[in-house]
Parts: sequence; structure tokens; C-alpha cells
Amino acid sequence: MKVGILGGGQLARMLAQAGGPMGVSCMFLSPDPQACAKPFGEHLCVAYDDPDGQHRLAEWADVITYEFENVPEAAVAVLERRRPVYPSSLALAASRDRLVEKDRFRALGLATAEFRAVDSLADLIDGAAEIGLPAILKTRVQGYDGKGQRVLRHSTDLQAAWERLGHVPCILESMVPFDRELSIIAARSRTGDTVHYPVSENYHREGVLRLSLSRAGDAMQPEAEALISRLLRDLDYVGVLALELFQVGDRLLANEMAPRVHNSGHWTIEAAPTSQFENHLRAICGLPLGPTTPIQQAATVNFIGRLPAEAAITAVAGAIPHVYGKAERPGRKVGHVTLLDTPGAPEPFERRLTRLLDVTGVPDLHYSVTAIP
Ligand code: AMP
Repeated sequence: MKVGILGGGQLARMLAQAGGPMGVSCMFLSPDPQACAKPFGEHLCVAYDDPDGQHRLAEWADVITYEFENVPEAAVAVLERRRPVYPSSLALAASRDRLVEKDRFRALGLATAEFRAVDSLADLIDGAAEIGLPAILKTRVQGYDGKGQRVLRHSTDLQAAWERLGHVPCILESMVPFDRELSIIAARSRTGDTVHYPVSENYHREGVLRLSLSRAGDAMQPEAEALISRLLRDLDYVGVLALELFQVGDRLLANEMAPRVHNSGHWTIEAAPTSQFENHLRAICGLPLGPTTPIQQAATVNFIGRLPAEAAITAVAGAIPHVYGKAERPGRKVGHVTLLDTPGAPEPFERRLTRLLDVTGVPDLHYSVTAIP
């Protein structure tokens, strides 16, 4: 099978890496000359809306997908007229605008934070009075990794936040006092079969994901599966979908969804019989989905901004580094390491994880690997 991918970053790269053994070849359409997926397929280095690039991708590919939700909807619509595109443009439209997304969550009975649409400073002042502070102001589109967000603590923060985000349409959300942040990843095939991975427990620093722990057997798993299944069915979804959740007590609130493979599921490469990348390819190529029950407990620790010394990672038993081939830059995801709960390792999992957090610059990230509620 030939898979065309809009985007050429690390998610496209890992999709292509998963495709290799399956006989799937990839072509990337990305305007970035340094696209890090390049070594794993052909790269069309043009704008997403370049008609010639779109034509070449559609001519070559059997099926088309994308690695992030900020690809222009018009580009996806053009390609969809030529070739199957999964997830569909409906799924893309449902997840790229935070207001549309939260309205859908509510319509499907998924609880969310309180929220208000904000199109002006007056809306923001009214919304903050209704919801209360602290709250978070987020741009409706184009935000990721904590970008396009401002935390509002005092009424004096409102005007500066509105200006800082550039007077663009926003959503104001109440600040959720969550106990845990979880995500669930599922894959749905062209025939509607669905598989779920165990939830990941996620830890962020300044809005950027730093650590994900696989949580097989978590008490919230059945509820998380039920929530994502509602979305999958509603969108007649094909491919991998990720749903980010806040746990408050024994309730789950939906924060956002991503119509693609997700950073919190990178541990599935080594710790699940079929990785999220392989299952995405299987789903969009019309193949049966693979099993997801993990082989062992695992964690993903991200390399943000810079790569740690290779020896500091490989010295940790059960640590498998992934280097994306991207230039180092503050705040940028340049790689990750998967830590496996390898039997016979000289140190317990938790101690090895703490060492990895040390070398990746977040020694003070507080997590718990043992207490699965
Ligand atoms: P997002 O881009 O919506 O995934 O937000 C990035 C991170 O900011 C989340 O993973 C949370 O850690 C935090 N965050 C976002 N929205 C809220 C909220 N309404 N309440 C509390 N924390 C939030």
C-alpha cells in the first residue's frame, strides 16, 4: 500500500517506520525543508495548498492521512475528492476548533470544563464573571503544546491576555482542579471494528507533555473506553483517535481530542503487540486491527528542547531512545525514550524512571507509578 501523509514531523516519521515491515511506503507533503520524516519516504516540499503537490500526492497514494490537525481543511477537501482520506474531513473539522469540539462533547454527553465563546474583550469580561477565576483563555484554532493559551488568575489579567492572544476568537474554560490527566487512544477500522489501548497517565510542564505512564488495569479504563467509543461512532471514524481527559474524583471530563496518533501513546511501539502507528496504518489501509493488550508496563519521557547525552539514556536498563532528527530549539519535541518494566532489570522501574526524568531536565516532576486507583 502507498500512504500519502500531510505533514513530515515525528508522527509522520514514526508512521513510516511502522509501515516499513508491513510493506507500506509513504510520501510526505510538508512545506518544511527539514521535515524529519524525510529519510523514511519521498518528500514533496511544497505548501499544503500547492495544486501540483496535491496532484502528485493523490496520483501516487492509495490512501491519504495527516499527522496533525492544523492542516488546512481546504487541502484535505481537495484530496478527499481524489482519494480516500482517513480520518475524514468531518473528523478533522470536529477537532481543530476547540469550541466546535467542546460543543460536540457536550452534545454526546461527555462532561467538560465550563466554557464560553469569546469574540471580544467584553465577552471575556462577561465570561470570566460567569465562570469565575482562575480560568484559561485558549485560541479556538492553531493552539498546541500550551501555545495559544493564557491562565487568568485576576480580573486585571483579562485585557493583557486578550491582547497577547491577538484578539482572535477564543474559548474561556474554567480551571479544572484535576486529580490526574489521562488520555485514551483507540483505533477504528473501515468496517467499524474498534480496539482500545490502556489509558496513559500524563504529566505536563508549561503545557508540554513530559511523561506518560501506561496504566493497564486502571479503574477509569471502562469509562474512558465508553467516552471515546461515542466519538468514534458519531464521527464514523477511521484511524487512530486520542482523547485527553481530566479525572476529578471518579469523574472524567473531556479536554480535547486529536484525530491522529498521539504523543501519550508512543510507549505502544515497544510495549504493545501492535503499536498505535501500526494500527493507524492498518485501519486506513482496510486491514484488520492488531491486538493492543500491553506486554509490560511502560513509560514515555519526552526530550524537550535538547537531546540528553546518549550514554545517560542507554545506561538505564530497559530504556529505548528515539531521536527524531530535528534541530534542538527551546520547547521543541526532539525525541523521547520508552522505559520498559523489563524483568530482571538491576533497579526497580520507578528508580529507573526517576533517573530518566533527571537527565531530561524534569527531576522534580511528581508522579506515582504504583497507585492505580
Ligand atoms: P490543551 O492544549 O488543552 O491540551 O492544554 C494543555 C495542558 O494545559 C493540559 O494538558 C492541562 O495540563 C492544562 N489545561 C488545559 N486546560 C485546562 C483546564 N480547563 N483546567 C486545568 N488545566 C488545563
